[in-house]
Amino acid sequence: MSVQFADKTWQELEEAIRQGALVLLPVGTIEEHGPHLPVSTDWVIARRVAEAVAEALRDEIPVLVMPAYWAGYSAREMARWPGTIRVQPETVIAVLFDICSSLIDMGFRKLVVIDCHGHHSGILNVVARKVADAHGVYMPVTSPARMSAEAFQRVRRSAQGGAIHAGEWETSLMLHFGEPVDMSKATAEDIMRYHSEFVAGDNFCGQSLVFWSTWGLQRSKTGVYGDPTVASAQTGKVIMEAIVERYCRFLREFCAQADESK
Ligand SMILES: [Zn+2]
Repeated sequence: MSVQFADKTWQELEEAIRQGALVLLPVGTIEEHGPHLPVSTDWVIARRVAEAVAEALRDEIPVLVMPAYWAGYSAREMARWPGTIRVQPETVIAVLFDICSSLIDMGFRKLVVIDCHGHHSGILNVVARKVADAHGVYMPVTSPARMSAEAFQRVRRSAQGGAIHAGEWETSLMLHFGEPVDMSKATAEDIMRYHSEFVAGDNFCGQSLVFWSTWGLQRSKTGVYGDPTVASAQTGKVIMEAIVERYCRFLREFCAQADESK
């Protein structure tokens, strides 16, 4: 049986609501990712992560995966290359709020956002605040990059600044998935040059002390902000295993807590 929300009939969804199913909402975007990765990268990773997590959990927790959201916000910097769709933050907030509200109005109470696009941090937190205020439903916003940070730091081959955008982390995942990646076009010339003790950068483990986008300082030539040349399918496999393991642990905790507070 499919875990895809969109494959269900309304009667099947009614049953899922009765079971208190968990609904995963993968959020990506369509955005340039350098000369070696498709513009769908964030959207593909969002969808793949949600599906893998749902498959791993389905025997213990009823779970559905929403169609991955693709029309996101990117900073104007990213529109220097073709392929970047830029929906204003206010619109993204409004659309995602309405999607969540629709799910809650039909009876789902356990929603979890899977955020696979860096420029959505902040935006998705606002959506979660609005959903909580409107519906009394507390929706976690999660990030595969953060969930896999420790595992990635253990195996990464790139220097600091190598995994921000279209770099080692994303490229390794896409290689692991068997998605179209042209490694002959991958270059390290746009590894992030600016480092600051106040910005977490690409270790994803710590919280930045300040919010400060340094992408504008980078003046990337290729649309890459990192080093994809050292990416490998093997690294992608390690990242993905860490993502699934940590998500399963968190989602068990989240669902148990949600059932308790019903
Ligand atoms: Zn990306």
